This record gives sequence, C-alpha cells and structure tokens, in this order.
Amino acid sequence: MGRVVVGVAVSVAVVACIVAAGVVGRRVQNRGKWRRVVRVLKELEEACETSVGRLKQVVDAMAVEMHAGLASEGGSKLKMLLTYVDNLPDGNEMGTHYALDLGGTNFRVLSIQLQGNRSSILEHDVERLPVPQHLMTSTGNDLFDFIASSLKEFIDKGNDSEVLLGGKRDLGFTFSFPTKQNSISSGVLIKWTKGFSIGDMVGKDVAECLEQAMTSKGLNIRVTALINDTVGTLALGHYHDADTVAAVIIGTGTNACYLERTDAIIKCQGLLTTSGFMVVNMEWGNFWSSHLPRTSYDIDLDCDSSNPNDQGFEKMISGMYLGDIVRRVILRMSQESDIFGLGSSRLSMPFVLTTPLMAEMHEDGSLDLRDVARILKDTLGIPEVSLKTRKLVVRICDVVTRRAARLVAAGILGILKKMGRDGTGGVTGTRSRSDVNMKRTVVAVEGGLYTNYTMFREYLHEAMVEILGEEIAKNVILKVTEDGSGIGAALVAASHSSNYI
Ligand code: ADP
Ligand code: MG
Repeated sequence: MGRVVVGVAVSVAVVACIVAAGVVGRRVQNRGKWRRVVRVLKELEEACETSVGRLKQVVDAMAVEMHAGLASEGGSKLKMLLTYVDNLPDGNEMGTHYALDLGGTNFRVLSIQLQGNRSSILEHDVERLPVPQHLMTSTGNDLFDFIASSLKEFIDKGNDSEVLLGGKRDLGFTFSFPTKQNSISSGVLIKWTKGFSIGDMVGKDVAECLEQAMTSKGLNIRVTALINDTVGTLALGHYHDADTVAAVIIGTGTNACYLERTDAIIKCQGLLTTSGFMVVNMEWGNFWSSHLPRTSYDIDLDCDSSNPNDQGFEKMISGMYLGDIVRRVILRMSQESDIFGLGSSRLSMPFVLTTPLMAEMHEDGSLDLRDVARILKDTLGIPEVSLKTRKLVVRICDVVTRRAARLVAAGILGILKKMGRDGTGGVTGTRSRSDVNMKRTVVAVEGGLYTNYTMFREYLHEAMVEILGEEIAKNVILKVTEDGSGIGAALVAASHSSNYI
C-alpha cells in the first residue's frame, strides 16, 4: 500500500515536472519568437528614423535638387517642367469657362461661371464618366471623339447660348499624363501611364487633337490651358487666397508645383513672361536623396515594381504604396515567427493591403483592436491573433505613416526654402530678424491620403512645426483645395482667356 502511495506520488511529481518544463519551454519559445519579432520592429524603426536633423537635410536636398533641375535639362531627378502658366487666377475673372479632366479612371466635364470679386464659383453639373475600357487602347481619334462628344452633350444639356450661337468659349484641359509643353495651350504627349496605351498619340500635340475633335462636333471652343492636376490645385488655391504659392497632391501618387521667378529658370534663359514668374511642375515623386531613410522593404518594393529606380520619393510617401510597405513588414515577421499563425498565402500578394485599410487599422480606437483583427483576417487571411500582436500591427502602421508624413513636410519646406519663404532667406541664407516678419505663405493641398487620414495629417503638421519652430510655422498654412484638377483648369483657362479684360 505504502509502495503504491509512493509510486503515485512519484508519477504525479514526474507529470508535474513535465508540465512545468512544457510551460517553461513554451515561455522560452514564446520569448524567443517575440525577441525575433521585436528585432524586426526595432530595425524598421531605426531605418525609418526621421529626426529633425535628418528632416532638415531632406529640406536642403530638395532645395538643392530644385536648383539643379532648373539649371539644366536632366540636371536632377526633379524634372522641374515648365507649365507656361504665368498668370494665376486672382478672383477678378468673369464669364463661363469649360474644363475637361482626364487622368484617372474617370473622365470629367464641367463648366464654371464667374462674376469677379472673388465670387464663389458657380459650378455647373459636373459629369463624371468612366472612360470606356476599349478606348484606353484604341486610337487617338476614337478617344478624342469620345471626349468631344461628351462635351457636346454636356453643353447641349446646359443651354449655353453663347456656344450654341457660335460664340467662342475657353476650355482648360487637365491632362494628367507626362507631356512636354510648348506653350500654355499646347503640349506633346511623352508617354501614356495608368493603363492607357494609344500608340498613335505619342508625340502628338494633345490640345490640337482635342481642338480638331471639338471642331468636327461643331463646337467653337479653344483650348486655352493644358495643365496637370497639381497646377489646377494651385490655381484654385490662388483664386481663393492670393498668398497661395505652391500646391501638393498627396493621393494615390504625389506631385508638387510652385511659383518660380522666370530668371531662376536657367535652362530656359531669356524666358520672358509679363508677370516675371511661371508655375513649375516639379514631378517631385521622382525626388531622391541619400538622406531619405530607406528600408529593405522600400528596396524590395522598388525592385518588384513596374518602374524600378523611378519615383523613389513617391514610393515612400503616397497612398499607392504605404499599405504595401506595411504588408511587407508583416510578411517578414511571419517568416521569423508564428505570431501571425502558420503563414497565409494572401500575405504574399502585392498590394492586397491597401492604404485605406492600413489607415483603418492604424486608427482603430477599440480596446481590443477589433478592426485590426478583422482586416488581418479578411484581407490578409491571418486568423485570430493575440492583442499583443494586434498592437504590433498598429505600431508598424504608425512607423510607416509617420515617416511618410514627415518626409512630405520636409519636401514642402524644401520648396519654401527654395522660394525664400522658410524664414531663413533662401538656400544659403541664415536665420535673421526678418523671420518674425515672414510673409504669410499658403500651400494648397489635395489628395485622399491627406484629407482622409487624420494621423498622416497630424504627423505632417507636427513635423512642420518641429522643423520651422512654432513662431515661423504660424506663417505657413496648408489649405485643402478640393477638386483643383477640375475647377482649377477652368480657372486657368479664364485667367489666360483673351476675352477676359
Ligand atoms: P487620386 O490620387 O487617384 O486622384 P485621391 O486624391 O482621391 O485620388 O486619392 C486617393 C488615394 O488616397 C487612394 O488611392 C488611397 O491611397 C488614399 N486614401 C483614400 N482614402 C484613404 C483613407 N481613408 N485613409 C488613407 N488613405 C486613403
Ligand atoms: Mg487626383
């Protein structure tokens, strides 16, 4: 009997030891896998580091690259394209003007009516039409015939008696594909992007093609302005606020333009405008500097993209890419440990995690982070994970977005530095007493990433204050300017119209 008792006691002790060893073992294992994950996170944080010192280097690099791009063709990764827009709407424009906006999935037709005195813009019905898929790879004739027909229908509906009676109207055309401008109203298509591919259009004057198509429909309308969406945003911003000197788009892609003195555009010496300035389209998505904090995820994303070595800045900051950077970090962590389960094939699919979904996870305010859990499950195929793991995902989103927003802030301040509007008096200037009297400076901002993503916006503003200091930062105002790509084109047409007195 006694032996049995001893035997049972020994067995219990052995089982207890095994269980205890299991628990400890699992703990050790757990600790091991978290250590590996934390190391990946730490590496990410370090590689994404954007101290004020580093941001100031980016500010300087942007200003220096702008100089180089203005000095010679190919002098910088910044193309610094001339737009020939030398006159921005100031609120005194009058009359009815049309605009067409082609550059994304939708094509839009609109008209505006202006009454001077910075009157509010009376916008006629905007018509949004999907571009029929077959036209995106058809012929130039077919595409422009579709555009001109849509405009004609729009005008017929609107009863514009001036056009119907044969009078002439002006039209602004926002054509957001790379073009080489020859004047404000003419430009040659360099290449198609965004799924369009119409071989017979490349090398042709886009405005001329449109005018021919409009004439064949009996429309007496001239293309007064051929612009891109950034220029439209600047124009609309300037219409409402004369202190607007630059515009930035932060949406699917990113770009910026600003007002430059014509004598600073060295690559076009002798360029004359009555105003002495011209809007320069920076194509800043292609900006590059060794000071940009780059990670292995950025390098892989670039290699896997359809345009490697191109649009380096854009790939770190715009809505097209942020979600995919986060996906790549999660994928790497899932390869290092099983905190995301046993590996999901969806996690390997490029662009499956979009930036709006990433933002939703980042801004999940619930205590148990249930939006994070839902998106991990539904989008990335990762089943239920611990709260600690969900918190880790929020942290990854935070690191990626904070870097992007702070780099945009540095980019904007690079432009202001080039313009001598950052309170330091230009690229080589030093801070002086005039800081205090720095001119009020407005930057028009458009794009879904900035307008819809609160954390992105807050990080951007925070970095501006950190770089400029609170006093100077008060003079720099970012103003959301919605629908510049449509209305802005009509406004540029208005301000360059010969009918306008
Ligand atoms: P586009 O740049 O295509 O002309 P938008 O300016 O509307 O269009 O920007 C759309 C982009 O903004 C989307 O591709 C997405 O990356 C980003 N975006 C839209 N909504 C959100 C959101 N809620 N949070 C974060 N990013 C968003
Ligand atoms: Mg847009």
